Amino acid sequence: MDKCYRHPDRPGNYFCQKDGNRMCEECACCHSPNIYCQYRGACVINMLTKQGEITPCADKANDEQEGQDEKVSA
Ligand SMILES: [Zn+2]
Repeated sequence: MDKCYRHPDRPGNYFCQKDGNRMCEECACCHSPNIYCQYRGACVINMLTKQGEITPCADKANDEQEGQDEKVSA
C-alpha cells in the first residue's frame, strides 16, 4: 500500500493531490508546476521543492515556462 507509483518496491512518502500519485524521494517533484493547481498551497511536494529538499523535475521537462511560479495565491 502507498507505494511510489513508479517504483512499487519503494514507499510513496510524497503524495501529489493533483495527480493523485504517490512518489518516492527520487520521483517526488511537481509534474506541472506551470499549471494552476488548487492543491499547491498545501502541497508537501511544492513546499519541499521551495525549501530545496526536492529537485524540481520541471527543470528538465519545461524550460520555457520557468519563473512563472510566483503568482500562487490561494
Ligand atoms: Zn519512485
